[in-house]
This record gives sequence, structure tokens and C-alpha cells, in this order.
Amino acid sequence: MKSIKALLKESVVLGDGGYLIELERRGYVDSGSGREKVGTGKGSGQFTPEVAIEHPDALKELHYEFLNAGSHVLQALTFFGTREKLNRAGYGPQTERINSAAVKLAKEVAGERALVAGSVSRTQLIEREGIGALDKAEDHIAEQIRLLKDAGVDFLILETFFHLAEMKAALKCARAADLAAVATISFRPLITQCTDGHSPAECARVMADCGAVAVGANCEQEPTRMLPLLREMRSAVQVPIAAQPAAFRTTDACHCFTRQPAFPDELETIQVSRREFREFGCVARAEGVGYVGGCCGCNAAYIRALANGLDSSR
Ligand SMILES: [Zn+2]
Repeated sequence: MKSIKALLKESVVLGDGGYLIELERRGYVDSGSGREKVGTGKGSGQFTPEVAIEHPDALKELHYEFLNAGSHVLQALTFFGTREKLNRAGYGPQTERINSAAVKLAKEVAGERALVAGSVSRTQLIEREGIGALDKAEDHIAEQIRLLKDAGVDFLILETFFHLAEMKAALKCARAADLAAVATISFRPLITQCTDGHSPAECARVMADCGAVAVGANCEQEPTRMLPLLREMRSAVQVPIAAQPAAFRTTDACHCFTRQPAFPDELETIQVSRREFREFGCVARAEGVGYVGGCCGCNAAYIRALANGLDSSR
């Protein structure tokens, strides 16, 4: 297999996603809504990846579906897999097992047909304890990245970070582990700035300066809502833009689905159709998006729609 950097040079890379919401719908992931109010951004809610050790066949099946839809990259389901987050969900002692099992499953399915990315997200420490917890967050992220490297990932996708400061720390850890990283921030409640107040253009510049091989946004918005912020990033950097939008409709007042009243138990009522992803695939190349996949709300049908859109723009 070629490296992610080489693939990005050749053509638009088709990603996958999203794993957690799809597996939650299939009954294998805990949304946390039975215990606490989720979607506050304060680090409540569960959505942790223990499915990798509790229902490995279910996770493997979803990997097969994305591969079959045309994904060039399979993301190991290691989202929210830092010891910090797993501890709060009751899975701290299984941190090593969950991360290594998730990578192993993705690699078994990918074989020589796709690259395997380790997914790393925010620790939620900054939301809970403030920016003073940044060093602690970095230690947790560094530990997870070491586990992912040991398990044999091809590269990292640093995703769904809310604070640019925490993303910078994660990119530092990726560099220290000598792993290439695609870096995507999630913008909420509006697409105009991330949680610590940086514009999309600033975020893109900083992430590119920190060595990311592609920079962009993921989650929270549907493709049409995300497009303007991607354009802003496109004009700010030379590296490829990465986009993994959600498949949920947002509003002009609130550009993120996790703050809509429908999250997490009525998401079906704001589902965006796969047609919007096909259209996004059609324009991705022209808009300078070099890595395109899905996030929450997407399944293999959405990735196939993206692939069709990309093909039609050739
Ligand atoms: Zn998402």
C-alpha cells in the first residue's frame, strides 16, 4: 500500500465513517443518554469504543461495508479511546486492549486494499477542567498514540477536536511518534470559530504549520453547511483539505447537530439524505478537498454516494 501522503498527491482520497452513531443504532454502542445529558460539550455522554472488545464481529462487519463501498482508508474505532475518557466510561483498565483490538480488526479487513488510520479525538479534559489541564490531556493523547503505533496503524486521523490548543498538542504527539496525521477540527456552535476562538483559516494555518498532511473539518455539520468553512481553509493553506461531514441537518442559529434537541435520541428526524453526499462528492475535487469521508449519521450508503459523486466529477 502507498502512504497517505502519496495517495493524497495522486487523487481525492475516499474515507469512511461514521462508526459510533451507526453502531449505536445497531445496539452495540452506549450513547450515554440513559444516565446524563449529552451534547453539552462539557464532556458528558459516553460514545466510547468498547465495542471493539465486546462485539468485535459487529465492528468488523461495518468495516467490510465501508471497504465494499470504496473507502481507501478504514479508521480503527479508537475515537474517545484515551485512558481519560475510557476511565469515566468504566473502561480505563481496558485502554490497551480496546485500542489494540480496534486496530487489529481494521487491519484484518483492510488487508492490502485500504490504509488503516488510528482515530484520536479530544480527551474532554479541557471542557471539564479548563485550559490548565492541557499538559494532562497531552499525556493521555501521547499514550493513546503510542498504543496505536504499536498496534500498527498506517497514519493518524486527529478528529473532533474543539480546541485548537488541544489539536496542537495532539499534532506534537503525532510528530513525536513519527506518524503522519490528517487533522480536522469540529466547529460548534457556529462554523465561524472553534471553541477557543480561532477562525477556520487560522486553524488550518496552525495545523498545517504543525505538520498535518491534510487539514480540515469533521462532524457537527452537514456538507452544505460545512462547505463555506472548508473554502476559508482552502484559501489559507497549501496542504490538501480534509472533510468528513455529519449527515444531520443543522440550523442557521446553531451550526452543530450535537446541540440540536434531536441529539442523541431523535436523530432520525434530522437525517440528511445521501443525495447531499453525492453532490458533495461532485464538488469536492473542484473545491480542493483532497480527503473526503463521512462522520456521524453516515453509513456505507453515504460513502458509496460520495464515491459516485467523485467519479462523476472526473
Ligand atoms: Zn461525528
